[in-house]
Amino acid sequence: MRIFHCDSCGHPVFFENVRCLQCESALAFLPDRMAICAVEPVPDEDQGLWRRKKRAGRTAATRRYRLCANSSAYQACNFAVPAADANPLCVSCRQTRVLPDLSVPQNEDRWRRIEIAKRRLFYTLARLRLVSPAPHEDQDGPVFEFLADLPGRQVMTGHRQGLITLNVSEADDAERVRRRVELHEPYRTLLGHLRHESGHFYWDRLIRDSAHIEGFRAMFGDERADYGQALAAHYAAGGLPADWQDTHVSAYATSHPWEDWAETWAHYLHMVDLLETAASYNTTLALPGDEDDVDEVTNPFEGGTVDFASLVGQWVPLTLLLNSLNRSLGQEDAYPFALAPAALAKLNFVHDVIQASSSTTAP
Ligand SMILES: [Zn+2]
Ligand SMILES: [Zn+2]
Ligand SMILES: [Zn+2]
Repeated sequence: MRIFHCDSCGHPVFFENVRCLQCESALAFLPDRMAICAVEPVPDEDQGLWRRKKRAGRTAATRRYRLCANSSAYQACNFAVPAADANPLCVSCRQTRVLPDLSVPQNEDRWRRIEIAKRRLFYTLARLRLVSPAPHEDQDGPVFEFLADLPGRQVMTGHRQGLITLNVSEADDAERVRRRVELHEPYRTLLGHLRHESGHFYWDRLIRDSAHIEGFRAMFGDERADYGQALAAHYAAGGLPADWQDTHVSAYATSHPWEDWAETWAHYLHMVDLLETAASYNTTLALPGDEDDVDEVTNPFEGGTVDFASLVGQWVPLTLLLNSLNRSLGQEDAYPFALAPAALAKLNFVHDVIQASSSTTAP
């Protein structure tokens, strides 16, 4: 995701910020602008209405907003809601249908962390025109429930008929790392979970009943294979093909064509998000030994139709740079994957499906 700047003083600000550290302006994400903006209460109106902060030499903005109800009640959101929208929750928070019991210590903090990751997912889906940032009563994206384990009930993270369920213990660093090691997954994050599960949602939406289904089966395999058996086989000893890296983005992707799709989908969202971030910092790349070949990273969401080959041409050196930076700080690789041509072909398929979908959706 791109870095934003405070439009009152120009200081760089992140997507999660609620106040500018330099000029102390209040900040909110305005979905109609898809940007973090400096905001101020509208004077002489005590209905809790906000507007973009008036800047020197400009007339005051006329558009009115409220802050998302989860902002004032829990400091759990920084999205604004157009004043004319009757829903007290923003376009992201209203997608959450079930919350964990907030009277349980820890759950409020877990929920807050999950909503942060979910807003990042929302942003990228909106940039890809897979959800609308405008308020809508018809649900056009996935809905979510965040649940905690109870005695006798273990919550499985997954997707079913438009509903994404996440076990809130994934928001606990220690628990997530324990599972990461136990399941031999080098990359396990909240945002990664949500991206993966959104892949299942969009498979139903974009592939299941569409002309893409035959192409999907040719590329990923036949999803009518028994899902339960496939997962059991994957987790059984020796269930992992030795050469999985030649064909799949991750080990888990080998378990079933649906999981292959969802893993590949998540990697596609990683890719466009990271490229947008790098482009917002005006990153240019030239690999050591090939200094003459300088490539400027371009924003994948700007400039019309995006060529997949050019995305990958920027993505590969960018992940090398990213991993090298991480190693310099004694950290593990941020992107611990090397994508073989067959895995890239699947990524290209996801790219084509999304491009085809967004060209048929009005912005
Ligand atoms: Zn500022
Ligand atoms: Zn909200
Ligand atoms: Zn899955």
